[in-house]
Amino acid sequence: MEKAKNLQNQNSSRKQQVKSRRKKNEQARINEILRILKENYTSAGTELDHTNPFELLIATILAAQCTDRQVNKVTPGLFAKYPGPEEMVSLTEEELAVIIYSCGFYKTKSRNILQTCRILLAEYGGQVPDNMESLTKLPGVGRKTANVVMSNAFGKDAIAVDTHVFRVSNRLGLAYAKDVLNTEKQLMGNIPKKDWSDAHHWLIHHGRRVCKARKPDCDNCFLNHVCIYFNDGQVSTQVKQK
Ligand code: SF4
Repeated sequence: MEKAKNLQNQNSSRKQQVKSRRKKNEQARINEILRILKENYTSAGTELDHTNPFELLIATILAAQCTDRQVNKVTPGLFAKYPGPEEMVSLTEEELAVIIYSCGFYKTKSRNILQTCRILLAEYGGQVPDNMESLTKLPGVGRKTANVVMSNAFGKDAIAVDTHVFRVSNRLGLAYAKDVLNTEKQLMGNIPKKDWSDAHHWLIHHGRRVCKARKPDCDNCFLNHVCIYFNDGQVSTQVKQK
């Protein structure tokens, strides 16, 4: 009886040791990913041109289902004529839609932008709020946009999960989630808070340049030795055979 109990205790302690070793290895792998990303994308920042929180908010709303490059073509003219919510509400939905037409979904975006401007004027003295609760109450502003604004316009620690961050972080194994909210939560748990905002940019840059949606360039990726997707054999085995 005593012998069986001892054996049981030994097994349980061995399992604990294995578990703790795995956890340490996993943390080392994550640290290595972050170190390499930081080293390669030191100057990564938002690619949406802006000079203040209002411009970034509007540019981020326009960037939904559109490229940053296209948004950057439209916003200089828009902000030159309508630099703040007060000026922008002088436009009708139709007039704004004509200006932002090339960003796609122009009717919805125009309606949301004008309604957002009205709320900013009525409730926030024409200023953009700096917190998740207030930002996500604005039309056209979800968690992702709110995180982008909080992080890039107000310097707050936040991880915005867009399509690139979602794809790359789940491929790498920085997160194992099926939706953006859980991806965001897991990234916040796995990445030191001081790196949240930068990590968002690193992952976007890597997603745009290397870890593309349809054809990730795994063979030439500097993260392939620590990438779960690659090492699970779902991609070319070329590098592994080197
Ligand atoms: S190895 Fe492939 S899947 Fe992994 S991060 Fe690099 S490009 Fe993406």
